[in-house]
Amino acid sequence: MGVQEIPTIVEALRRAFDAGRTRPLAWRRKQLLRMRVLLKENETTLAEALRRDLGRSRFESWVCEFQMLEREIDHALKHLGAWTRPERVATPLQLQPASSQIRRDPLGVVLVIAPWNFPVQLALGPLIPSLAAGNCVVIKPSEVASATSAVLAELLPRYLDTACVRVVEGAVPETTALLEQRFDHVFYTGGEQVGRVVMAAAARHLTPVTLELGGKSPVIVDQRVRIKVAARRIAWGKTMNAGQACVAPDYVLVHQSRRAELLEELQDAFRRFFGDDPMRSPDLARIVNDRHFDRLMGLLEGQVVHFGGQHDRESRYVAPTVLLDVDPASPVMREEIFGPILPVLTWNTLDEAIRFVVERPKPLALYLFSDDPGVQERVLTSTTSGGVGINQTIMHLAVPDLPFGGVGASGIGAYHGKAGFDTFSHARSVLTRGTRFDPDVVYPPMSPFKEKWARRLL
Ligand code: NAD
Repeated sequence: MGVQEIPTIVEALRRAFDAGRTRPLAWRRKQLLRMRVLLKENETTLAEALRRDLGRSRFESWVCEFQMLEREIDHALKHLGAWTRPERVATPLQLQPASSQIRRDPLGVVLVIAPWNFPVQLALGPLIPSLAAGNCVVIKPSEVASATSAVLAELLPRYLDTACVRVVEGAVPETTALLEQRFDHVFYTGGEQVGRVVMAAAARHLTPVTLELGGKSPVIVDQRVRIKVAARRIAWGKTMNAGQACVAPDYVLVHQSRRAELLEELQDAFRRFFGDDPMRSPDLARIVNDRHFDRLMGLLEGQVVHFGGQHDRESRYVAPTVLLDVDPASPVMREEIFGPILPVLTWNTLDEAIRFVVERPKPLALYLFSDDPGVQERVLTSTTSGGVGINQTIMHLAVPDLPFGGVGASGIGAYHGKAGFDTFSHARSVLTRGTRFDPDVVYPPMSPFKEKWARRLL
């Protein structure tokens, strides 16, 4: 498919939308059910593509892509009726007799631009609410995860209504050509820089955007916590997809008094997960490409490696690595790490830890390990972030009823569950009045008499 075909594709989807093809709930349900079948019938093919792109195990792909999508689909199917039902709201007395309702209209034709790190979940995840809300959709998978992109382009037309859902594969030229078209919503997941490009392009058509970006998600470890559990959950979050997750714990701020214990437990957790030589473990994914591998090597330059640090460019392997005594001004503390490298810094007072977080761009996730409800509340009320995990990393995004999205530098808008349905629908206000009663007092010509009555009645 060439870039010259893109306007025709978008036009065809608009015609299908305008013809009302996506409006019936039966159509939406069918698409969601077909997505479920697609995932069931093709798990092996998708897992193999993910293994080729990211060296990831099938089990990990099931945990962080397939089962999450299946849960989202089931949630949408279960609640579709309630989400789409017009909502009655009260009408003020002076407008009676009348009724007021909010209807959830589809937006039209939407564009989903997906990244490479969870290339199935982040392409199909936004597709679920856009179809549930009754939209036509163009999906642009990431060219960086090329094997998965090809499989999605092959599979989606076999399962979904091709008059309403199209996959456009490609890189910058194709995405640029897509962004020249007028969409009714653009849903972008990826880095901040391209996020700006997407938002600027959408502004030309006054198209609303959702930007699911990244950033540095901190972990605060308090004195009062079971360090062994904290270490294991941090280590798990840091090595899922080899740390290439937007909500991966980026760095740790631990109370000085628990640092030694945390370091020991982190080391122990990594060993238990991946053995003495993690390079030989089938459970540790690889860095997606040479550019990202070299970027990570650059971040390690001049750092004090407490644990790990081994790497192999040929297979793009990076061992789970813990850094100590990191200068907060160094690149590893300024850029999103997006790899299995974990700087551990310390604090003496909770205020110090909070200040460290709030002085930096608002993160996508904030993690706190503390069994002290007072500390939990203080951190929640003194910081902001897209989402929060208390005593857990990453899994807050697996709760369908929790909106998932960033704030400030970590993004605009949210999805998952009802939040996703709302993102892809327009809340349309409808006032319906009866025609029997139509008092003259509100219509010109005005008079002191009419005004007196209007003030009394309205
Ligand atoms: P990427 O390189 O795959 O880019 C994302 C998408 O943008 C791709 O489809 C790509 O083709 C397109 N693109 C790239 N350059 C473009 C350009 N100049 N113009 C138009 N489109 C362009 O992915 P990435 O940006 O490397 O993704 C990693 C980032 O995404 C990290 O910062 C991560 O935190 C973030 N992320 C966020 C979430 C979330 O849900 N908030 C999820 C995953 C990743």
